[in-house]
Amino acid sequence: MNIANLQSLRDATDAILKNEVKHLPLVSSVALKLLELTNDDLANFADLTHIIETEPTLAAKTLRHVNSAAYGLNHKVTSVHRAVNLLGFSAVRQLAIDLLFYDKLIKRTVSKAFDPLFFWQHCLFVAILSKKIAQCVQHPNPDLVYTAGLIHDIGKVVLESFGKVSYSDFLQTLNNTNSAQLENERRFFGISHAELGYVFCLEWQIPEAIAAVVACHHAKEHDLNAFSAYHLEIAIIAFANYVAWMQGIGSVHDEGHAQLEEHVLATLPLAQLDLDAILQAVDQEMQKTREFYGIHFPSVTKLRATLVRTTLNLSQLRLPEASANQPSTSLTLPHQSLNPDEFVPNTLAAIQAEFRLDRCLLLDIDAKRRCLSTLYICPANCITSQSFALDPEHIAGKFLHCLRDKSAEIINSVADPNNPFTKQLGAQEFLIVPVSCHNRLIAMLYADNVNSSRPLAPTLPKLILPIVYELGIALQHAREYAVQKKCAQIDPLTQLFNKRMIEECLTQIFQQDPVKITQLAVGFIDIDHFKSFNDVCGHQAGDDVLKIVADIFRSLTRPTDFIGRYGGEEFLFVLKNTDIHGAYAYAERLRAAIERRGKLMSKRFHGHALTVSIGVALYTPEYMNYPELVHAADQAMYKAKSSGRNKVIMIANRHS
Ligand code: GH3
Ligand code: MG
Ligand code: MG
Repeated sequence: MNIANLQSLRDATDAILKNEVKHLPLVSSVALKLLELTNDDLANFADLTHIIETEPTLAAKTLRHVNSAAYGLNHKVTSVHRAVNLLGFSAVRQLAIDLLFYDKLIKRTVSKAFDPLFFWQHCLFVAILSKKIAQCVQHPNPDLVYTAGLIHDIGKVVLESFGKVSYSDFLQTLNNTNSAQLENERRFFGISHAELGYVFCLEWQIPEAIAAVVACHHAKEHDLNAFSAYHLEIAIIAFANYVAWMQGIGSVHDEGHAQLEEHVLATLPLAQLDLDAILQAVDQEMQKTREFYGIHFPSVTKLRATLVRTTLNLSQLRLPEASANQPSTSLTLPHQSLNPDEFVPNTLAAIQAEFRLDRCLLLDIDAKRRCLSTLYICPANCITSQSFALDPEHIAGKFLHCLRDKSAEIINSVADPNNPFTKQLGAQEFLIVPVSCHNRLIAMLYADNVNSSRPLAPTLPKLILPIVYELGIALQHAREYAVQKKCAQIDPLTQLFNKRMIEECLTQIFQQDPVKITQLAVGFIDIDHFKSFNDVCGHQAGDDVLKIVADIFRSLTRPTDFIGRYGGEEFLFVLKNTDIHGAYAYAERLRAAIERRGKLMSKRFHGHALTVSIGVALYTPEYMNYPELVHAADQAMYKAKSSGRNKVIMIANRHS
């Protein structure tokens, strides 16, 4: 988040919220007063008692709570002062804050795609877990951490209740896109929930540490600079948020997958945390809170400390610095091409021959799906299984050593019976070498003598490492080249193919024998009145719309078809093996989907409609080259414009 640009965050907040919100106290002044109280002096104790006494709902709930069976008191407590004494400052303040936020913000939210109870459950879980962690790491103010956890996602509930378009509206649009959630929010609302929450924290003059957590609980390390004093609080809440997600207690149903940033793990002393005990305590406290409110949360998934541990272990599989003086090697094979399909098989064959190995495989590591899959095999067809799971429990012994120390290891299945390779590949003894570049593990080399049963020479790891080192660099170069190549083909704003690729696609089609070009349709799409859209809503909203439109096009286009950004607010699609009915149906689907989205988001767009005009030309042999066909589609699009816009016009043959 760019805090330096606070004004633009304020502008974006104003633009997306309904006008009346400016006159509404979203959080009561009592809650804000409570936030300022700390339990380190008597005056605050008196203040807390006073606040509770003067808020009838708070007083009633507090007394009911202290008189509940859980405390087993013989005499009924009727004085708030005594209740605060009995329950303790921290517990009462916590109950009061929970209640005030719950009453003001959650209870009044209508349950739609954004489910307020589910959301509340998430906030409470994150708050309670954060406080426990804060206590474990001797944070000076666990109560503050609790509150930060409780309101970290406040931006979502503000958007849901007071946005011109709601968080529920946003959630409905998420099916077809896999970009990160915050980026999707920025496109949809012009601001993310974290940024908007931060603006509100400033407005309410909430303590800076809490505002920092609201702003940065999803932030990457380089975005934390403005909040360097609050790394620990941010890390605690980010961690608790992640654990909540892993337990099925995300803030919304179906949240996509959460991410745990490296700085969070680096900041928290995880080894000190007794996760089993902490999660059990959180479970109990959640139960108490549920009783306090008399509500039943939608099924709380049972907490599983082991699941948390496993995932943490996996995400920590980072490798130490490479040794500085890597030996040089005369083996230059890896560097003879930028195409891995050429240089990897050659290198594997050279290794196999030079070291007299029966089989040599290059394995890809898919950390997300926790599996290994074979990328290259030498000799060809020497194995059948293509992919096998990497169970974190089996990352032990020499294999763990190999991953941690980036060392080449000979592994024997007698000494390491649980290794993940023997069962799949059948060798009693094998060599495993991590392939890395700039300290990042990018693949694994596996080799064995499964047929000849020849023992592997103890010197083999040392001899093979320099070659694998070169292979790692070459693979990295090849990947970088592929990325660069992709950049030259992709429009950076919409991530659709750019004009160059559209032309390349059409050139290839027209290079074929004309009789082979059958049922080809080319469509030209242009956003209607986009200039005035920019004028009314601002250029940033215009850019967001281009991305949204592109996402919708992508989600409605088959992988075998092609769609790209032709320039500005113009897009072009190419459909193969599609007749006039199919082409019309596709174009109409795009048009209708954009119109629908425009209606959904209309309040954000100040009532400006979002529609597109589409012209489609069907190929006939009269078109001599692709520019003629594109031109025909363009003409059809102009007809759509002149006949009222938000239309699809088809041209079935050149002279129609
Ligand atoms: P019509 O319905 O006739 O197509 O009207 P129009 O306003 O859409 O057409 P016109 O060609 O007059 O204006 C296109 C506008 O698209 C002008 C330009 O500012 C805007 N535009 C082009 N590229 C971008 C972009 O990358 N981002 C944004 N925000 N606007 C863009
Ligand atoms: Mg969040
Ligand atoms: Mg236009």
